[in-house]
Formats: sequence, structure tokens, C-alpha cells
Amino acid sequence: MTEVSPLNRALDVLARDPVFDGHNDLPWVIRADREARGDVLAYDLTRVHPRGDTDIPRLRQGRVGAQFWAAFQPTNAPHPARTTLELIDTILRIESAHPDVFLPARRAADFARAHKAGKIASYIVIEGGVGLENSLAPLRVWHAAGARMLIPCHNETLDWIDSATDAPRHGGLNAFGRAVVRECNRLGMIVDGAHVSHDGIRKILDVTEAPMLLSHSNAFARCDHPRNAPDDVLKRLKDNGGVVMATFVPGFISQKLRDWLKATRDGFGKAPMAGDPKAQFAELEIRHGPAPKTTLADVADMIVYLVETAGIDHVGVGSDFFGGPQPQGLEHVGCFPDLFAELAHRGFSNRDLAKIASRNVLRVMRQVEKIGDKLRATSAPTLGRLEDYPGV
Ligand SMILES: [Zn+2]
Repeated sequence: MTEVSPLNRALDVLARDPVFDGHNDLPWVIRADREARGDVLAYDLTRVHPRGDTDIPRLRQGRVGAQFWAAFQPTNAPHPARTTLELIDTILRIESAHPDVFLPARRAADFARAHKAGKIASYIVIEGGVGLENSLAPLRVWHAAGARMLIPCHNETLDWIDSATDAPRHGGLNAFGRAVVRECNRLGMIVDGAHVSHDGIRKILDVTEAPMLLSHSNAFARCDHPRNAPDDVLKRLKDNGGVVMATFVPGFISQKLRDWLKATRDGFGKAPMAGDPKAQFAELEIRHGPAPKTTLADVADMIVYLVETAGIDHVGVGSDFFGGPQPQGLEHVGCFPDLFAELAHRGFSNRDLAKIASRNVLRVMRQVEKIGDKLRATSAPTLGRLEDYPGV
């Protein structure tokens, strides 16, 4: 009997349990693209984008069965509420431009429905709660528009929550921040601590009634970027039922590269947001010498550590493809099977691979829905704005 190669094992698993990727910034890439300028049809997802990382042919090649698309907005740009709606609209236009490829997905059960129809389940996540403009009402409107996950902040601390990459002002989360978490619970919206400070994540874990996700974060113990989760948080995911989704961002997977980048960035490791991230990286290399390389094997190492620390039921993948530099071997969305082949090679069982690919995150989504359904039956929408929540 010939032994099945790791890649064939991975492909076999992903045929039944395709990848549910926790984070992709394609909507922002389309918006920032100089030619398309936000026009989904002009960007043309049906062709391979050799300089980009995400398009339909390579989503298919990568066995992607579901995607959390980020409705992202930079914190300090003008018109945050409008920008959030524009990004939700971009995702809705991706869905409507390709109804044969993307299934507008709003419940966990839509994953299986999409798989059966040969489509990719398209889920909306709001990345950055700045668009709430300190009011709970927009959250419900975002939910009504299809959003099923909230990343409360991006790289900057807001009036109610501390960012991982900014000075803390609230000991993590203040009273209004807690109200946002509770209203997400009630709506059946996942709270995603990816960009939240370590204390902020701990506070969310104290408050939330539902499991949480860290949709594109790694382990702080292996790479000390503040965006990565400390071990005590990873261990608390077991009780919470949540999932940490390993990200491919090079500066979050390798301590060597992290140290190189530290010399080039501010104390919080914040990357400059304006302009082309690949060009910025090339510029840094001209000034500081070549950056230490990161590879697919580094991501596999990180996943092994996350599984050892949080447990096999609490790990997934959240690539964070955003048009920036990526590890060797994981340059685009077509590379997911190679990562799962590496994990198969490292001794993960088929069942474990399926959990990491999509089963764990689907369990979180089902539980969040169940808790939301229950809470909505017994509690009314919470009204109010930041000023209604004095004190801490
Ligand atoms: Zn992000």
C-alpha cells in the first residue's frame, strides 16, 4: 500500500471541511486600488491578480469555503460612520457581482449550504468600531445589513476600548465598551478581540456571555508583538469556548523579524497605513538592510504552539491577506492546502485538520447565534451613547 502524501491528505480533508478564513482585507484593497477605486466589477475578481493575493481562481485553488471579509476603516480618517457603510456596501457588491461564486452568509448553517452549492460563504466583519461614533444604534444597523462580527477597534484606542497598538486609556474597556460587548451578545454578533489590548481582551472575556474570536492573532510568547495574545488569554479560550485564528502577517509570526521591525517602528509596532504596504516594506529594507525571512513553516510552528496552549478545539486560521508582504509559501489564498499539508506532515490527524480549517470557528458561530437567540427573547435592545455611561 502506498502512503498518502501530506498534500493529498490535506486536499482530502479540505474537500469535506474547506477553509473558513478569519480575515481578509480584499474590500479595502479594491477600494484603494488605483484603477478600480472601489469598483468591484472593474477590479475583476474572475482573473488572477499576480500582484495581489486574493481572487476567485485562487480562492478555489485554496479550498476556501468561507471568508470573513473585513469592512475596515482607518481610525482617524474622516466620516467613520459613512466609511463603514461604504465598506459593507463593497462586500455586498462582491456578493452580488458573483452570485455563482459567493453565497451571502449570515448564519453558521450557511457554510454547509454554500459548500453543497459549490460556493464560498461570504461573511461580513466590521473592523474598527470607530464608525459607531459612540452610539449603540449603528451596531444594530450593521447587523441588519449582514455583519456578524465586530472587531471593536483597529490600531488606535477609542473612547471606550484600548487598542493593542496604542496607549491605554480605559484599563482595557470602559462601561460603554461593556455595553457594546453585551449588545453584540444579544444580536448574535461575534466579538473579535484581534486588535484589542491584552487587558481589553481580558475584560471582554469577563463580560461576554458568548465565545469570542481572535480572528487574526498569534501567540505573544512566541513573537512579542502586542497584537498577539498572551498565554493567559489563550488558556482562557478553553472556558470561553472561543478560537484564536493564526495569522500569516510576517511581523506577527517571527521574533527575528519582529526585532528587525522594532528598530523601524514606534513603540507599539504600528505600521504606517497610507500607501502600498509592499513598497513601504521595500523602503525599510533599503534603509535597514534585508529583513529576516519568514516562511510557511514559521506559521506551522505558531499553530503547533497555539494548539499546545489553547487546545485543539480553540485554533483556526485567519490569514489577514491585505495586499502586503506574506511568508514564503503563503503568498496568496491559493496556498492554504500547502499549510494544511505541512500540518499533516507534523502529525495532526485528519480530524484535527478539519477542526483547524473550519469546524472550530463554526462551533463558535453556532454558540453565538444560540446565545443571541436566547437573549433577544428576554431582553430589549440597549439604547444609549457614550455619554449615558459615566464612570468606569
Ligand atoms: Zn486587522
